[in-house]
Amino acid sequence: MKAFIKTYGCQMNKYDSEIIAGILKENGFKLTEKTNDADIILVNTCSVREHAEKRMLGYLTVISNLKKENPDLIIGVVGCAALRLNKKILKKIPGVNFVLGPDKYKLLPGLLTDLSCFDETCYTVNNKEKYEDIIPVRNNGISEWVAIMRGCNNFCSYCVVPYVRGRERSRSVKSIITEIKELVAQGIKEVTLLGQNVNSYNDGSFDFPDLLRRVSEIDGLKRIRFATSHPKDLSTKLLEVIKERKNICNHIHLPVQSGSGKILKKMNRKYTPEEYISLVEKAKSMIEGISITTDIITGFPGETEEDHQATMELIRKLEFDSSFVFRYSPREGTKAFHYKDDVPENVKIRRLEEINSLQQSISEKINKKLIGKTCEVLIEGTSRRSKKEMKGKLDSGKGVVIKENDKKVKAGDIIKVRIFDANSKTLFGKINGRKNVDI
Ligand code: SF4
Repeated sequence: MKAFIKTYGCQMNKYDSEIIAGILKENGFKLTEKTNDADIILVNTCSVREHAEKRMLGYLTVISNLKKENPDLIIGVVGCAALRLNKKILKKIPGVNFVLGPDKYKLLPGLLTDLSCFDETCYTVNNKEKYEDIIPVRNNGISEWVAIMRGCNNFCSYCVVPYVRGRERSRSVKSIITEIKELVAQGIKEVTLLGQNVNSYNDGSFDFPDLLRRVSEIDGLKRIRFATSHPKDLSTKLLEVIKERKNICNHIHLPVQSGSGKILKKMNRKYTPEEYISLVEKAKSMIEGISITTDIITGFPGETEEDHQATMELIRKLEFDSSFVFRYSPREGTKAFHYKDDVPENVKIRRLEEINSLQQSISEKINKKLIGKTCEVLIEGTSRRSKKEMKGKLDSGKGVVIKENDKKVKAGDIIKVRIFDANSKTLFGKINGRKNVDI
């Protein structure tokens, strides 16, 4: 039987789709890229944002129609939203055969062979599953994501993750190192260690800085990133490891969410704006040129103009390299769902635009400072816009377009590039050293 997997949502969900593909492959199922060639369609869903959930329901309605021509087609809904909406999905879209939560992917082979095995246990959280024994099916690029832990214990008041993905549990250092060594042997040059709260990784013997150091000692691994960090768990020990090991990228994605102490408290983020500011200042003073990026939620319940201005002020002070700004939307099942969503939509949009515009000017200013400098760029391949150009990334994660395409340079090489132009999103450069940079 051939399976088509459609994925919505965050990087963790994309990784889960690779796990699902691994489970299916191991059990004799094949994968297909086309829905009309599939015997099974699995929709891996996300419930973190309302928008992704709505798109997923629309997609399910469309693919249910395929059953008119192929009544034997099996449609399964897996992932976060499957766990959250279970019975609602089954009632609303009758074409769906089953729903399966993020901890239950190992039930798939049995379920696909005998749909009568489907019951309520398919959509409960078990808080234990780590999928350590599964080999994910990947796309063979030069960069890969490796989940080091699952779940989250933080219970930020706006977030469904702890409810749909359960409590934190970490994979063993040994299984992570084995997986990354195999990836490097296959030609992978960069890995991103992935978890909802990577800094609180702990397998019982090793914490996150220990793991990071071990990973950085793997021969042939040129770059290591990690996401996502919670400010309360970002330790000095971690900053020291980043500073010391050259192949750990000088970049931390550190969601602040708001610059207002009152809102942070309501969000249950467990730090104050002052603590966040001193943490970023410490990182910047310890690691020269470190890039800090962030996430911000605008229009959280009770956010006044003063709170919004506090966020603007924090952005001005810390000058993030970039920010991802989201408009607050209530998620059922969270604590904040019971707060009055009292910031009008037009105000949320205006605040979001103000933050984006401020961030754009800061990003442009930071990026323009690189003009005239020679930087190390990990080549990702030919640019999508033109075959005459290549694209790559700096250590900081910034995208670079190289305005030439040298056939001797291949994806995965790190070359020296002289930056000659920049805007808020992209740097533009010319090759300044064809040899691989030895790291
Ligand atoms: S840290 Fe907060 S926002 Fe992030 S996954 Fe955990 S609960 Fe959600």
